[in-house]
Amino acid sequence: MTRLDADDAVATETSVECAGPRTLLLEAREVPLGGVRAMSVHRALPQRDLPLVGAWCFLDRFGPQETRMRVEPHPHIGLQTVTWPYLGDVRHRDSVGSDVVVRRGALNLMTSGAGISHSEYSVGTDAAPLDALQLWVALPESRRHGGPAFEQHAVLPEVGLPALAGAPGEATVVLGELAGVASPATVYTPIVGAELRIPAGATVRVPLESAWEHALVAVYGQAEVTAEDGAGAVVLDAAHLLYLGTHRDEVVVSSPAGATLFLLGGEPFEDDVVMWWNFVGRTHEEIVEAREAWEAGAERFGRVVDHGDERIPAPPLPAVRLTRRRRRL
Ligand code: MN
Repeated sequence: MTRLDADDAVATETSVECAGPRTLLLEAREVPLGGVRAMSVHRALPQRDLPLVGAWCFLDRFGPQETRMRVEPHPHIGLQTVTWPYLGDVRHRDSVGSDVVVRRGALNLMTSGAGISHSEYSVGTDAAPLDALQLWVALPESRRHGGPAFEQHAVLPEVGLPALAGAPGEATVVLGELAGVASPATVYTPIVGAELRIPAGATVRVPLESAWEHALVAVYGQAEVTAEDGAGAVVLDAAHLLYLGTHRDEVVVSSPAGATLFLLGGEPFEDDVVMWWNFVGRTHEEIVEAREAWEAGAERFGRVVDHGDERIPAPPLPAVRLTRRRRRL
């Protein structure tokens, strides 16, 4: 089979287009990480029928829990990791030479390009309260073959959320752009990641980019969002992701007792992706190649600063070919 034939075969099974506003509540699943990590996370993305929201392809909430985090050096390709901490101090080290503490208030953005490796350890020797969101952003074709990078941003812009009832809310623009206000962090596709704080008893308007698709998760508390057809309200809590679809200029959010939410969205992504372990690619072959390079200790993934030989080995590949994940909603 020629390369062209293979590409045609991929192209014939097209995804469902994201079309119009939705108010679809999807369950986050509990995933035990096992091994030395001995922690579990709630994974809100990818969903079986929703692999991407804009370029966002992964969302884990790890915590709140008492733990001593110790994630040894491991590789990534084709993505940016976005770490947005709530509780606890974590030391991040990577193969571009970063050695920093990650804590509440600062965005930590690691761009893998074609290959990076990093480790994450709790600060201190005892178990301590830990809570954070970790998200991945799929890199577009124009950036995913490039070099690795890391940035930390402690100063992020705020946007007011106008009140329809009660006090106004506020948003921190973590990544990309909300209401024309841009985060200083480097992005490669039109995107938004923002923390939203809704006061108790308030109903606020959250401005959205009409051509983009969006989703909401709750970090603390519960929020209510009116369904797009006006038929009642959907209650969002920390165990769910609320998919909002496209073609909305705003979403109206209420919270009787107050809530902290995270908004993710962006231009529908240019392509379907193949995701396996810590890799985001486009074909089975490139995932196999990345896995082999990591197992061989290849230069592609560099060396994590101030580490010896400790590393997380890649799991075995499944017996089947890895395929692109397609939207089915
Ligand atoms: Mn990682």
